[in-house]
Amino acid sequence: MGETRDNDAYEEELLDYEEEEEKVPDSVTKVNGESAKKGYVGIHSSGFRDFLLKPELLRAIVDSGFEHPSEVQHECIPQAILGMDVICQAKSGMGKTAVFVLSTLQQIEPTSGQVIALVLCHTRELAYQICHEFERFSTYLPDIKVAVFYGGVHIKTHKDLLKNECPHVVVGTPGRILALARDKELSLKNVRHFILDECDKMLESLDMRRDVQEIFKMTPHDKQVMMFSATLSKEIRPVCKKFMQDPMEIYVDDEAKLTLHGLVQHYIKLTELEKNRKLNDLLDALDFNQVVIFVKSVNRAAELNKLLVECNFPSICIHSGMSQEERLTRYKGFKEGHKRILVATDLVGRGIDIERVNIVINYDMPDSADTYLHRVGRAGRFGTKGLAITFVSSASDSDVLNQVQERFEVDIKELPEQIDTSTYMPS
Ligand code: ADP
Repeated sequence: MGETRDNDAYEEELLDYEEEEEKVPDSVTKVNGESAKKGYVGIHSSGFRDFLLKPELLRAIVDSGFEHPSEVQHECIPQAILGMDVICQAKSGMGKTAVFVLSTLQQIEPTSGQVIALVLCHTRELAYQICHEFERFSTYLPDIKVAVFYGGVHIKTHKDLLKNECPHVVVGTPGRILALARDKELSLKNVRHFILDECDKMLESLDMRRDVQEIFKMTPHDKQVMMFSATLSKEIRPVCKKFMQDPMEIYVDDEAKLTLHGLVQHYIKLTELEKNRKLNDLLDALDFNQVVIFVKSVNRAAELNKLLVECNFPSICIHSGMSQEERLTRYKGFKEGHKRILVATDLVGRGIDIERVNIVINYDMPDSADTYLHRVGRAGRFGTKGLAITFVSSASDSDVLNQVQERFEVDIKELPEQIDTSTYMPS
C-alpha cells in the first residue's frame, strides 16, 4: 500500500486508459523453468507453516488437505499478507483463490458493521464459489462474516442482510455491488482490501470496467488491491496497474507455457452435421469422471443437452437463459457429482473449479485463444490429469486452433483412433 493521493489526479489517472509503454519494474517476478514445471511441489520445501499464518487459518488449511503451497501461493502469500498490492497471472487450477482468501483472512480484524474486504468477479457461479472458499478457510475464525451478492436474487434480501448482520467480507458481481453501494445500503468506506478475480475479463469489457471503476472510487484510497487471472495480456496489464500502487507483479510461467502440463489436447475435424454422432461415440468410448461440453450459444446448450438426455446420458446444462436459482442449483448438483455431463456456454468457462472434471469437449470452437485456455483449464486442475478435445468444423475454427498452438506453443494433434486411458484419467 502506498500513500494517499490527491483526489483529482487519482480519478484522472483511473479514467485515462490511453496505454503507456509497459515498464518492467524491479518487483516483477517471473517464475520460469524447472520450479514452475513442477507446480506445487516445486523446489521450495517450505510449507504453509512458514508463512506464519494465524493458527486458525493453518487448522483450516490442514482440514482442506493442502500439504504444500503451490508455486503461485509460495510467490504471492508472503507479500500479500503484508498488505502489498499484487497483480498475478498463473495457470488455471494452481490455487490463486487461496492466495487472496488466505491473505485477506490473515489481515482482517473484524469490526462490527464494517465491510473490510471486497472481492469482485464476473459471474455469479464464481462469486458463489469464492464465498465458499472464504467460509471454508474461516471455519475457525467465527467472528468473520462473509456474504455473497449477485443479481437475480431479490435485492431486498441483500439489503436486509447488510442491515442486520453486516459482513466483513463481501464477494459479488459488479452490477449488484454497485446497485447496493449507490443505494447507500452497502458502505464501502472501510474497505481495506479490494480484489478482482479474472481481472482481465472484468476490465476488458467497457461496461464492466465502468462499474468496477465506480465501485473502486467509493472505497478509500489507502487499501490493498489484488488482481488475478490465468490470462493477462500485455495490453491489459497497464490497465490493471492503474488501480494499484507499485504492485508486486507475479507472472508464473511465460504466456507460452500457460497450458497445463497434465492436460492431453486433441482436435477432430468434422462437419457441423457430424458433431452429434461424434459426441455420442466419444461419450461412449471415453472414460471420464465428469465432462464439460462447451457450446457457443444458449440455444445450442439447451438443444444439445436435450439430445443427450434423450440418449440417456446423465447430462445437465447451465446458461444465462435460466433463472439464477436454477443456475446455482444445477451448478451445485454438478459440483456434487449428481450429474456427470455438463453442457455449458462460456458462462462457466472461467474460474469454476470442479475437481472431478477430467474431460473438456469444445463442441463449438471458442472465439479466441484466451477463451480456449480458460475452457480447457476446467480439466486437469491442480496438477491432475485431463483431456481436452476440440471440434473443428470450419476455416475460422482452424484459425483459432492455430492461434492457440502458436500462442501457447502447443502441438495439438488429431485425436487418434485409440487413446490410452491412463494419459488422462487420474490414477
Ligand atoms: P485457480 O484460481 O488458480 O484457477 P483454484 O484457486 O480454483 O485455482 O484452485 C484449484 C484447486 O486446487 C481447488 O480445488 C483448490 O482447493 C485446490 N488447491 C489450491 N491450493 C492447493 C494446495 N496448496 N494444495 C492442494 N490443493 C490446492
